[in-house]
Amino acid sequence: MNYDPDNLFAKILEGEIPCNSVYEDEHCMAFRDINPQAPSHILVIPRKGIPQLSQAGEEDKELLGHLILVANKVAQADGLDEGYRVVVNCGEPAGQTVFHLHVHVLGGRALDWPPG
Ligand code: 5GP
Repeated sequence: MNYDPDNLFAKILEGEIPCNSVYEDEHCMAFRDINPQAPSHILVIPRKGIPQLSQAGEEDKELLGHLILVANKVAQADGLDEGYRVVVNCGEPAGQTVFHLHVHVLGGRALDWPPG
């Protein structure tokens, strides 16, 4: 799949679409999901345009690690010290709807397993 530079999260990164930002650095940003599935639901996205996890490469190793560490940082900042879930939906069958790689951080309620 080719990266669509006009996708929703690219527009959020460009500031064309507003978001409720909670964290930003040179590699990524994090903002609240518009349709939260838990009391805390934050999305962490890289600035780099990678459509989905299966298209990340060896060269993205550090970036992927960084996204996970930022996921923890925003979870702690949201008071999720008792626990939270990190999810990456990869591809339509897994529920991915926006094709700019993103990490969901969910918490603030008990989360069932297995997921739907
Ligand atoms: P996916 O289904 O691709 O894993 O996750 C995409 C997420 O983006 C969904 O949880 C959806 O609620 C969220 N989302 C869709 N449109 C917007 C928007 O305009 N702003 C924000 N903040 N989140 C959005």
